[in-house]
This record gives sequence, structure tokens and C-alpha cells, in this order.
Amino acid sequence: TKSDGKGAFRFYEHSLAERLQARLNMERALHQALEQNQFVLHYQPRVDSMTGELRSLEALVRWNHPDLGLVPPLSFIPLAEETGMILRLGDLVLEQACAQIARWKQLHLPVVPVSINVSPYQFNHGDIRRTFAACLKRHDLEATLVEIEITESSMMGEQAEVSAELTALRAMGIKLLVDDFGTGFSSLSQLQRLDMDGLKVDRAFTSELVKKPEGEVFFRAIMSMAHALGMHVVAEGVETEEQLHALRALACDEIQGYFISRPVPSAEAELLLQKRFLL
Ligand code: C2E
Ligand code: CA
Ligand code: CA
Ligand code: CA
Repeated sequence: TKSDGKGAFRFYEHSLAERLQARLNMERALHQALEQNQFVLHYQPRVDSMTGELRSLEALVRWNHPDLGLVPPLSFIPLAEETGMILRLGDLVLEQACAQIARWKQLHLPVVPVSINVSPYQFNHGDIRRTFAACLKRHDLEATLVEIEITESSMMGEQAEVSAELTALRAMGIKLLVDDFGTGFSSLSQLQRLDMDGLKVDRAFTSELVKKPEGEVFFRAIMSMAHALGMHVVAEGVETEEQLHALRALACDEIQGYFISRPVPSAEAELLLQKRFLL
């Protein structure tokens, strides 16, 4: 019928226009969010798999949207990367993390390094080295109090430049971790050349570990090669005690995941600094 036809036409017309409009709105909102700093960090602990000792807190950004509430990073990080806004967002994240560590230090809390996610775009277009150095200096922090997490894909970028950048960061005393390991295409020889400190194995592999027999084979191979190359291994997305036990049996060094704690706001993270995790 006529109305069906019109409805169908309008559906397509709207879906294109709406998507463009939605994207524009989102871009505008993100610009405003950057100006007004509507971003907050939540922190998720990473602990020693044997002793439960707290090793680090990973900073995970959320957009505290005036109408929508806390928006998860995967719904705005990709747009921030596409538009280059990730540079300013990255600066805000770093600044907030360093300010937080400095506050915890002032309160004489037993601080641990805060681990910061850095996008490939920041590596290729930003000045990571100087940004980090300046922020640490501004807050009078030792470089060992921050760590950088980068995905395998960002290390594959402009090889020589990325490699020089990583070397400089490491020389400053900043630890470097490969994020989502196993989802990209880096070879362990590349990792050794780049002298990474640790591997964070993607949570897909943690979940397969106790589900599929091949899962254990994969982990065992990673473990032995990483250790031989002087890197420690972190399992991401540990949700069950069964997974913890399997990881311990494989001598996986550290774990992170809901089994230990979800990412929490800074006030709760402050309590985690003083907590003993009993595994
Ligand atoms: P990621 O770096 O791999 O961070 C881990 C993600 O897994 C977090 O999601 C965390 O909440 C979630 N997670 C932790 N433990 C578990 C678990 O046991 N089970 C399950 N199912 N999930 C778990 P979140 O906070 O939504 O962050 C998503 C991604 O957004 C991060 O993945 C990271 O790639 C990116 N991201 C977050 N903050 C930043 C940032 O400040 N800068 C950049 N460039 N990216 C960020
Ligand atoms: Ca990460
Ligand atoms: Ca990860
Ligand atoms: Ca090493």
C-alpha cells in the first residue's frame, strides 16, 4: 500500500540522515565533553596471582554525560580516535590519573602504579614522551608510578618511530604492557625487540582456558616464551575461581577481572589500596 511504501522509503531516508545526524550530535557532544571535562576514571586492580598483592590499578575512562549518565568507553573512544579528539581525551585521562596518584600520596596511602591505556593514534600523532614527562613533573611523581598499555596494533604502526618512542618511555622508567595480547599479529620476536615489560592476555583466552583443551596449550606457549623473554604475563577477564586455579597452575604471574574486582570509582579504589586480596 501507499503508506507501506512511504514507510519503507522513510525508513531508509531516516536511517541515513539519522546516522549522519547522530554522528554529528555525538561529535559535538564529545567536543563539549572535552571542554567541560565530563570524564571520570574508574580503576580496576591487577593482583599477583599467588599472593593477591596489589600490583597496579588500571585507569578506565567513562564519560559522565549530563543526561545519559556514565557512558562506557567503547561507545565513544572509536569516534574520538577517528576525529583525533583522542589526543585531548588522552591528555585529560593522563592528567586525572596523575592528579589522583598525587592525592593518594599526600594521604600517605600505599600507592601502586596506575596503568594507562594509550591509543595507536596517540602514538602516531601525539607526543607521548613529552606529555608523560610533563605530567609526571607537574605532579612530582616518579615515572614508575605510571604504566602504559598499548595494543599490538599500535606497535605495528610506524615501526621505527614507535620503537624509538617506546625506548624513550622505558628509559624514563615507565613500564610498558601489551594490551589484548593474542588478538593482533605481533610476533614474540617483535615484542622482544621492543622490550615490553609484560603481556596482558586478552580475556577471550582466559575464558577459553577452562572451556577448551586448546585453551591451555595456547596459554602454556605464551607463558614459556614470555618468561624466556623476561616479560611477565597478566590474564585479563578472570571471572571465576576455576580460572584462577588454572592460571596459577600455568604460573601466570598476575590476574585482573571481575573475580577480583570490577572497575570502581576513585573513592572505592582508595579503599582497594589498603585492602588485602585473599586468593
Ligand atoms: P581494555 O583496556 O581491554 O580494558 C578492560 C575492559 O574489560 C574494561 O572495559 C573492563 O571493565 C572489562 N573487564 C575487566 N574485567 C572483566 C571481566 O572479568 N569480565 C569482563 N567481561 N570484562 C572485564 P571498559 O572499562 O568498558 O573499557 C573498554 C575498553 O576501552 C578498554 O579495554 C580500552 O581499550 C578502552 N579504554 C578505556 N579507557 C581508555 C582510555 O583512557 N584511553 C583509551 N585509549 N582507551 C581506553
Ligand atoms: Ca587495557
Ligand atoms: Ca585488554
Ligand atoms: Ca624485559
